[in-house]
Amino acid sequence: MPELPEVETTRRGIEPALVDRRVIELAVHEPRLRWPVAAGIAADVAGQRITGVRRRAKYLLIDLKRGTLLLHLGMSGSLRILPASTARRAHDHLDLTLDSGNTLRFNDPRRFGSLHYTADDPALHPLLRELAPEPLDGGFTAEYLFRVTRGRSVAIKLLVMNSHLVVGVGNIYASEALFLAGVRPGRAASSLTREQCARLVTAIRAVLRKAIRFGGTTLRDYVGADGNPGYFKQQLYVYERAGERCRNCDGPIKQVTQGQRSTYYCPRCQG
Ligand SMILES: [Zn+2]
Repeated sequence: MPELPEVETTRRGIEPALVDRRVIELAVHEPRLRWPVAAGIAADVAGQRITGVRRRAKYLLIDLKRGTLLLHLGMSGSLRILPASTARRAHDHLDLTLDSGNTLRFNDPRRFGSLHYTADDPALHPLLRELAPEPLDGGFTAEYLFRVTRGRSVAIKLLVMNSHLVVGVGNIYASEALFLAGVRPGRAASSLTREQCARLVTAIRAVLRKAIRFGGTTLRDYVGADGNPGYFKQQLYVYERAGERCRNCDGPIKQVTQGQRSTYYCPRCQG
């Protein structure tokens, strides 16, 4: 599933091909995505100039002169920039054809992705308005994490993965950030000191930035993911390293289950 770093990598990859281009046509080959694609959407966007490509949580926001497209990659979605004449493959559901002769093509075998259009401020759209702070933005501070952990006995790893409190911190990034912060994943959130909250915020940001730099963790067909996509994975400290040696203390990495997900940590480094 594309996580926040992959979505951000995708955004950076498609942005240069989209900005300042005019939409010739939006072709919806398959409207049955996670939610049905609205029938009038092609007429809404035709002829509009693209002014920018932003990201909010795992939504890509394609800003047009008079509105915004909200695109979610779902579980298996991916985007490519191709000459518009390129033959469609199975599961190519959307084509946003541009005046450059290229198309932004959306492929999604499992169809958990989605496409919406809003003529209003996208921040007020029902899909976006309730979202928690972005981990890489100013709202996600040590003070914020300290405040939302007070009175909560839930394990700190599950708390940082709670998208109602901060968006986009998936399993792999939560595990790695807790290692870097020296915090055991099962600790009650409320037991973290202010300083530990500060270390954890710094670590979450560092892990996500690094993943974005390396184009995400998974090998995918992204535009612009021209580095070695497996490189970030080779640098992981704890994730999927159960029984292997800690890169810091040489002790064995342990694996436990939290909230039906695997958690990896070093018992020595994460006291
Ligand atoms: Zn260790």
